Amino acid sequence: MDVPCVRVPREEGEATRRELAAADLIADDYEITVEDGWLYVPVTDPDAVPADLEVVVRAAPERETQTTPAELLGSEPSFERLGDVALLDEDDPERAREVARAIVDSDLPLETVLNKASKIKGETRVRDWEVLEGEGTETVHREYGCEFALDLAAVYFSPRLATERHRVAEQVRDGERAFDMFAGVGPFVIPFAKRGAECVGVDVNERAIEYLRENARRNGVEERITAVCADVREVVPEYEGWADRIVMNLPHSADEFLDAAVALAGDDCVLHYYDIQHEDDPFGPGERAIRAAAGPAYEVTVETRRTVRSYAPHELNVCLDVRLERGD
Ligand code: SAM
Repeated sequence: MDVPCVRVPREEGEATRRELAAADLIADDYEITVEDGWLYVPVTDPDAVPADLEVVVRAAPERETQTTPAELLGSEPSFERLGDVALLDEDDPERAREVARAIVDSDLPLETVLNKASKIKGETRVRDWEVLEGEGTETVHREYGCEFALDLAAVYFSPRLATERHRVAEQVRDGERAFDMFAGVGPFVIPFAKRGAECVGVDVNERAIEYLRENARRNGVEERITAVCADVREVVPEYEGWADRIVMNLPHSADEFLDAAVALAGDDCVLHYYDIQHEDDPFGPGERAIRAAAGPAYEVTVETRRTVRSYAPHELNVCLDVRLERGD
């Protein structure tokens, strides 16, 4: 069967395979093959492969099949993976229990199964989970070569944003100053710091900041990350005019923090502004709010308008990459 494969010289094969495995990009259903000194590693999402790797489409043999949850259930269950945890969004309690049992009885390396038990709530954006299988809600998730320890019952984290975070991280340059206003356990600042940025991550959730500090150590970047537990508005005076890059991932209410973001911005600063809006005009409200907050002191240029994912019927989660340049 034809599948997208990363093609690398054989001697670079193991390092590349490890890099792709860390980003959860290897298509496990197909064999890795070698031909004429090249290694071909089948991948699940060619668009998420780092830009410096070559992707080709070629025939790859299917692997000897392992027992999957679908085989045990007789139908394909829907779930997300986060470290060794499977996350379900199942309303029917009996179906949830059946799916959970099939997941842990399958050959997948998943030990714990959680079912969503509430919507995302309050200032800290944490939801309740029902533990269907396994011991608890803590895990270690790997994404593009970084490791994140986290407890889903205590902090916000979404594995669905991995490709988007990687897109932003790839823009970061050695030595720049990056400020994440709503940092969580560090999925932006840790890859930023790995690329040589000096980072500040702020979060009002004390547990998120504890994990951010732990994750900075795990990833060997604690020297380049300052983690602050506070309402970000209280931190602004200390970092006025400091940032070359600002991340605002608090969709629904990021507009309320734009004055703080503008105060943090240096003379030439890129703002990554996340928003959730109706599909009829997903970028307009954010763009207008940014222009209102930053002008006339800053010239505002929208560099990217990107749809990250569909959030709800007719609602999109979007990102605006906006350059703020201070006028004379
Ligand atoms: N950036 C992280 C990520 O992508 O996983 C976390 C994003 S989560 C949607 C928003 C985070 O903002 C939560 O961790 C929440 O605790 C934090 N938060 C909410 N209001 C805040 C405030 N006023 N100051 C600082 N952090 C805040």
